Amino acid sequence: VAADPLTRAAAEADDAADPLAAFRDRFVSDAAGVIYLDGNSLGRLPVATRERLGAAAAEWGERLVGGWHDWIDAPVRTGDLLAEQVLGAGPGEVVVCDSTTVNLFKLVGAVLDAPDTPRHPPALVTDRGNFPTDRYVVEGIAAQRGLELRLFDGEPDAATLPCGAGDVVVLSHVGYRTGALADLPALQAAARERGATLIWDLSHSAGAVPVELRASGAELAVGCTYKYLNAGPGAPAYLYVASALQAELRSPIWGWFGQRELFAMERDYDPDPSIRRFLAGTPPILGLAAVEEGIRITADAGIAALHAKAVAVTERIVALHDAWLAPLGFELATPRDPARRGSHVALRHPRAWQITRALVERAGVVPDFRGPDAVRLGVAPLYIRHVDVWDALDRLRDLVARRGHEEFDPSPGRVT
Ligand SMILES: *Cc1c(COP(=O)(O)O)cnc(C)c1O
Repeated sequence: VAADPLTRAAAEADDAADPLAAFRDRFVSDAAGVIYLDGNSLGRLPVATRERLGAAAAEWGERLVGGWHDWIDAPVRTGDLLAEQVLGAGPGEVVVCDSTTVNLFKLVGAVLDAPDTPRHPPALVTDRGNFPTDRYVVEGIAAQRGLELRLFDGEPDAATLPCGAGDVVVLSHVGYRTGALADLPALQAAARERGATLIWDLSHSAGAVPVELRASGAELAVGCTYKYLNAGPGAPAYLYVASALQAELRSPIWGWFGQRELFAMERDYDPDPSIRRFLAGTPPILGLAAVEEGIRITADAGIAALHAKAVAVTERIVALHDAWLAPLGFELATPRDPARRGSHVALRHPRAWQITRALVERAGVVPDFRGPDAVRLGVAPLYIRHVDVWDALDRLRDLVARRGHEEFDPSPGRVT
C-alpha cells in the first residue's frame, strides 16, 4: 500500500530520495529551526561565498589598483559562465552589471534608438501585473519620450499579445506574484511575427526553471542574481543581447566601461563592438565574486534537477493546500499545471498580511506578503526540503485554525 502523500513520513521519504539533498549543507544554516521560504526574494548565503568574499577583500587589500588587470574582465567572464550554465546563451551574449532596473532601462532605450526602428512612434507594452520596477521603467521611458504606454490585464498569452510592428514589449518569465511561468518560445514567436521586440525579465526564473534563450530565439533579457542564484543583497544583475543584435544596439548610458578602448581617454565615445558596450561604469568586483559562486553551485546541481525538485515541492504545497488550507478560506493563485509555474506558490487569503506576520513571529516560518492578498511561499530547490514545506503548512494550518493571526496589525508595514 502506497504511503498517504499527505503525511510527514511521505515527505521524509521524498527527502531521502532527493538527489539534491546534500546541497542544503553548502549553505549557511538557519537560526534554530526557522523555515525560510523567501529564497525568491533573497537567496541564502552559500558557505563558499562567505569564504570567497573574504578572499576577494584580501585581494583588494594586496593588489590595490594593480588588480584591475584581471578584474576588468569579470563582468564578461561571469556573464559567459551564467550564459552557459543557466541561461542557454552563447559566449559573449551575457554581461553581469548594474541592477535589473538599470539594465532594463538600457535595453529598452537601446531598442528605441536602433537605426531600423520604424518611423511611426512605437508603443511600450507590458502587463499590469508585471513587477513594479519593470512597469515603472517602461512608464518612465514612455513619459520621457512621449510614447504610448500600453498595459494589458491578465497573464501574457501568445494569441492575444497586444503589440505591432516596432513596439517594445517587456514580460517576466515567471510572474512575481502568481508564480505563473510564461510560454517563452510561443510569446517570442508571437512578438517576432508582429514585428515587435520582446525583452524578458528572468529574475524569478533563472536558477529554478530551464531558460533556453538561444534555442527559443529570445533576443534580449535581463535578470537579477540575488534570488535563486544566491549572490547576495544588491549583487549585480545581468543582461543578455543575442549576438546578431549587438552591432545595431547601443546603450543610452554612454559610460567609459562601454568604450572601445577604455583607457584611450582623449577619444570621443565609440562603443566596444562586443557585449561590453552595455557596461556603464566601474563593475562591483566583490559582488561579481559572489555571483560567480552562486552560479557554480547552481551549475553543480544542474538546472534539470533543480526544476524537477521545484516541481515536486510545489506539487506537495498544492496537495496540502487543497487538503488543509482551502477549507480555511485560502485560494491557490498559482497555476495547477506544474509545467506552467516557477518555484513559488502564492496562496490568497483576505487576511494574508496578518497571516504572514503571524507565521514569521509565532511560527518560525518566513514567507512574504504580496498585496493585496497573497502569502508567497518560495521553495528554492537547492536548500528547501519536502519536510520544510510539510512543517510550514502544518504550522500555517494550525495558526489559522485557531485564529492566531488576528492579534496582528492588519495594515502592511514598510518592507513586506
Ligand atoms: C526581483 C525582481 C527585480 C529586481 O530589480 P532590481 O533592480 O534588482 O531591484 C526586477 N524584476 C523582477 C521581475 C524581479 O522579480
